[in-house]
This record gives sequence, C-alpha cells and structure tokens, in this order.
Amino acid sequence: MAEEIKILSFLSEFRASANSLLSKYEPLALVLIPIFSLFIARLFQSAIVGVQENGLKSSLIASFMYIIKLVPGVRSYLDAEKQKVVDKLQSGNKSKREGWRTQLPTAGLGNRVLELMEEEKRKDVAWQGKCSGTVYIGGTESEGHFSLINEACSMFAHTNPLHLDVFQSVVHYEAEVVAMTAALLGRKASGDQICGNMTSGGTESILLAVKSSRDYMRTKKGIQNPEMIIPVSAHSAYDKAAQYFKIKLRRVPVNNEFQADVKAIRRCMNKNTILIVGSAPGFPHGIIDPIKELGQLAMRFGVCLHVDLCLGGFVLPFARKLGYPIPPFDFSVQGVTSISADVHKYGLAPKGTSVVLYRNHEIRKHQFVAVTEWSGGLYVSPTIAGSRSGGLIAGAWAAMMSLGEEGYLENTRRIMEASKKIQEGIKGIPELFIVGKPDMTIVAFASDKLDIFEVNDIMSSKGWHLNALQRPNSLHICVTLQHVPVVDDFLRDLQESVKTVKENPGPISGGLAPIYGAAGRMPDRVMVQELLVNFMDSSC
Ligand SMILES: *Cc1c(COP(=O)(O)O)cnc(C)c1O
Repeated sequence: MAEEIKILSFLSEFRASANSLLSKYEPLALVLIPIFSLFIARLFQSAIVGVQENGLKSSLIASFMYIIKLVPGVRSYLDAEKQKVVDKLQSGNKSKREGWRTQLPTAGLGNRVLELMEEEKRKDVAWQGKCSGTVYIGGTESEGHFSLINEACSMFAHTNPLHLDVFQSVVHYEAEVVAMTAALLGRKASGDQICGNMTSGGTESILLAVKSSRDYMRTKKGIQNPEMIIPVSAHSAYDKAAQYFKIKLRRVPVNNEFQADVKAIRRCMNKNTILIVGSAPGFPHGIIDPIKELGQLAMRFGVCLHVDLCLGGFVLPFARKLGYPIPPFDFSVQGVTSISADVHKYGLAPKGTSVVLYRNHEIRKHQFVAVTEWSGGLYVSPTIAGSRSGGLIAGAWAAMMSLGEEGYLENTRRIMEASKKIQEGIKGIPELFIVGKPDMTIVAFASDKLDIFEVNDIMSSKGWHLNALQRPNSLHICVTLQHVPVVDDFLRDLQESVKTVKENPGPISGGLAPIYGAAGRMPDRVMVQELLVNFMDSSC
C-alpha cells in the first residue's frame, strides 16, 4: 500500500507537468505531426503500427509526445522533472532503508538471526482477515494447516527435482500433485492424456503455456510471427509472456457482461494467431469467460486455447459439486489445449506453487529445453527455473492430501456462502452496484453516485486492503477463508465508508483517490509506463 501511495503521488505530480507541456506545445505539434509523419519514415511506420494497435487517439498522443521530445530542451526538461520525482521517491526509500545491512556481518550471528527475524516480521501490516486475496489459508483449522505445511516444506527444503536420480520423493510428489489437479479439471471427460508440471506460480504457468503454444504452432503450422489474442480482463502475465517470447499481443474489449467477447476475438484472428485465452474466472471481476465458445473458435481456426484457472482451479470443481451453476471451464471442453491452476491460492498450498496442464504430451514437449552441446553435459529441464525447491512441491502435496476432496468441498461451501452474503450486502447499499455477475468468490463493485476510490480510502483507514480496478473504476474483494468470520464487519465498514463519502465528498488527506483518478486519465500511457518502471527501479 505504501508503495502504491508513492507511485500514485509520483504520477499525479508528473501529470501536472505533462499537462502544462501539452497545452504549451499543442499548436506547434498540430503543424509538426503531419510534417514529421511524412518525412521521417521510421516515425511514419511506427505511427501506423501504433494506430492499428492502440487506436487513433492514443497514437496521436504518443506521436505528439514523441515529437515534443524532439524539440530542443524538452526532453531534458521532462527528464529533469522525472528525476525530481524519482529523487523524492528515493529519499522516501532512503529513510525507510536507513540502517539496512549492505554487507555480510564479520562474525556470523548464529541462532540469534531467528530473534531478529521475529522482530522484523512484526513490522508487516496486520493482514489477518482484512486483505483481498493475499493469504488464502484461514478459518478455525488454519493454525494446524499452517504448521502442517511448514513442516512438510522444511522436511524437503533441501531437495531439488532437477536431480531426479537423487530425489525420487519429490519427483513422485510433483507427478501426484499434477495428476490430482488434472483429475479435478476434466481429465476423465477429455479422454486425453492430460499432463503437466508444477511451477513457481500462476505467472510461470502462463509463461510456459504461451511458450509451448508458440513452439507447437510453429511446428504444426509454420507460424514465424506469432500473435495471441486476449480479453482486456486477462491477467498481465500474458503481457509478460508477449514481451519475453516476442509474441504480438492483441487485446480485445470484454462484452457488456464483462466476459471475453468471442465475436471480437474472431475478428482479430489471422494466419499468425497461435493462441486465444479465456479465464475462469478473470481476476478483475471474478467472471467466467465463455470457454465453450472459445473452444469452438480455437478448433475452427486450429489454434491453441489456454484457460486461466489460476483462481478457479481449486474452487470451481467443488462449487459445481455443491450445486452452484458453473458453466464449462476445463479439459471437458473441446479445443482447450492448456490450463493454469494455482495451488498457492485456493489450493491452500505454500506460496510459490502452481500447476500447468496440457491436453497431450505433444504440446507439452515444446515446454522443455534440452541442451546437447554444453560442456556441463547433457541437460534437460522442464520449467523456467533450473533448480527448484522440493520443499514447495512437498508443501503443495501435503496441502492437497491433508484436505482431501471433503476439505476442499467444505472450504468452498464457506467461501461461496461468504461471497453470496457480501454480494447481497452490497446490493443493499443503494450507492453501489456489482460489476457484472460474479461466478465465484471475487466480488467487484462500483458506483455512479460517488468516487469509489474515495470509498477505498476510507476502507483503507479502517484497515482493509481491497484491490482498486480501472475501466471501469471499481474495487474488488477476493473472498478467502480469512473473510468468513468478518463478513458482517466488512459490510458494516463498507456501508459506513459509503456514508462518509456521501456526506463529505472529496479526497481525504493522504488519500489515494485523486491519484488513482489521475493515473487512469493520464493520456500519455508511455509516460505512465516509464513512471512505473522508474518506481520499481527505485524500490528494489
Ligand atoms: C493470480 C493470478 C495469476 C498470476 O498468478 P501469480 O501466482 O501471481 O503469478 C494469473 N491469473 C489469474 C486469474 C490470477 O488470479
């Protein structure tokens, strides 16, 4: 949260100087844009590509800013402005980092490190019951579950499945975690040889699925300039994959129900398309995309379809069993070629565990990297990491085995009921409305009567950590077992926060609302991107 505060105040300050620049140079730019577009071929070309990808308005703004920066003195002015804010940011960090160790202690501290760590841990904010998502383990048996997982992890902490001749135990556990997950996600109905691997998290699972799809499509269809199509609601991990693996990313708006718009995706398909994507559910609004229709589209065009079950993988199969109406989402749908499911979310496993699954071995083989010409010997590795912690694999296995189907069913019942209660409660607050129809345990809400980010500020002052979303401006809570006992507190606080904002509209001191608004409205997205990067660079 503190980081968000900093980055957003950074943005707001920058916006002011960007705006004054914009107005100062607007007439000049109107003359310069066509001239430069005509005479600078590189710029002309990039403008065309930009318009295709980002639309006319943002392309004009981008070329405008590009040209503005060519005017002598402007770039240095902008850089200086940026540096000022970055310096300020870093000074904040500096004070926070004062006294941080920069080299090894000469004499080791031995066991005393544990005391120091206890002390350090106390500096984290109180997250219990108050964070959207974040920690999924909770409820009355949580103490036992935490310590069971800790024990399992520590028992295997020094193992490494890279050495499969040495650590058969964790190789065995990984295979079982993958098989048990595949059984939940339509293996039987598919009739195929579903296979997969454990990864470090949802992002790695998605990265691997994209990489495998790219190389599978190159082999199968000879695609050399791959493109993938994602709904705007799909996770940012696809952007990462596109950048890492040199794939062109096409982002398609969602429909009125906030679901993937299959027709719009269809319109973006071409001979270079390797992959389309659906989420079950998507992170922003917790809504399941029409996976069956996406499957039909993928089959028709002979492309891959990845279903992001990072959130839903360990909820939807159980919710369906409990009688909730859950549309098709897994390998039982023809056309689905890969799936990601996070054990470290609703699977209640330790952080750093996820599963990537493929419909068959032919696709998965493209995930592996085999090296024959290394003086270190013959090498083959299945995932992005080389060495991996067997401790996390053992922790995930322990979580799944200790809970069993009945454990997950009971947990799902609780969080689904809590989520329904939250939805009912929000419906009872006339200033708010729910975004779309949540399928699971993520509830997004917005307001057309007041600034929802101001509501968020008041909620934050009451200790809540909700997720702020954009397009449309809204908040969401990802309901976990942590929330089951505090549903009424949440609704009471939300009601009070809405009342406070209604009676005293306008930003509170230290609040983020104006900055969230500014960050969303800032026209030059390249600038926002640069600021995000500079912020990250100064915080780690
Ligand atoms: C969390 C999440 C991811 C990414 O997972 P990480 O574990 O944070 O890497 C991807 N997709 C969805 C829908 C998610 O909720």
